Parts: sequence; structure tokens; C-alpha cells
Amino acid sequence: MKEQRNTRQQRLVLDSVLSHVDHPTADEVYADVQKEDDRVSKGTIYRNLNKLAENGEIRQIKSPGSDKTRFDWRTDPHYHLICKICGDVVDAPIPYMEDLDEKIAQLTGNIECKHKMFFECVCNNCQNK
Ligand SMILES: [Zn+2]
Ligand SMILES: [Zn+2]
Repeated sequence: MKEQRNTRQQRLVLDSVLSHVDHPTADEVYADVQKEDDRVSKGTIYRNLNKLAENGEIRQIKSPGSDKTRFDWRTDPHYHLICKICGDVVDAPIPYMEDLDEKIAQLTGNIECKHKMFFECVCNNCQNK
């Protein structure tokens, strides 16, 4: 029975992340899951998010200047736009530049180089306020 409950909670956590385009924080996922299962604890949410991230089903994003970890259902490499005012994170509409990684590898002799990029912006919502 316990196993089933764990699986259900993990699915609720994953569903929550999948339903967001804005890279939810653990607190936002907690609020979503609570609507379905009001006995769920924050610890359970954190545990499930970490497990899903370890399994590669979702990704963790740590945006600069913010101590909040956000979660992303897109696991392919891509860039993010972060709003300087409200802290919202959205995907950048440009493709990942693999040739940058190759160039760095060539120039330094290091291997498995991957870059991360954040664009600091003021989002449309904040502009209209
Ligand atoms: Zn904003
Ligand atoms: Zn993303």
C-alpha cells in the first residue's frame, strides 16, 4: 500500500512540473500536489523532485541571484531568460550552441564541456506594470 502511495505522489509531482511552462519552485509544486493530496508533506515533495531529477526525468535549475531551485521538464540543453524583477524563468527561443562546447574543448583540452546561459531581462508582465 505504501509503495502505491509513493508512486502516486511521485506522479503528482511529475504532473505538476509537466503542467508548468514557467519552471516551478518546490513550493509551487507543493501547492499543486496539495490540491490532489492534502496529507502530502513538503519533505515528500522535495524527495520526489530530487529523485525525478536524479533519474533524469526533470532538471534542476539554479538561477543566478536566486536561492530558489526551480524545476524544468525539458531535459535537452537550452537557455533561460530570467526576469530581474519578478524572477520568472522561461525558455529562450534560440537553439543551444553545441559548437561553443566543442570550441572550448578544442582550446583547453578539457572534455565534456557544457555551457549554461541565462539572459537577465525584464519580462513582458513586469514591463506592463
Ligand atoms: Zn517579471
Ligand atoms: Zn527550461
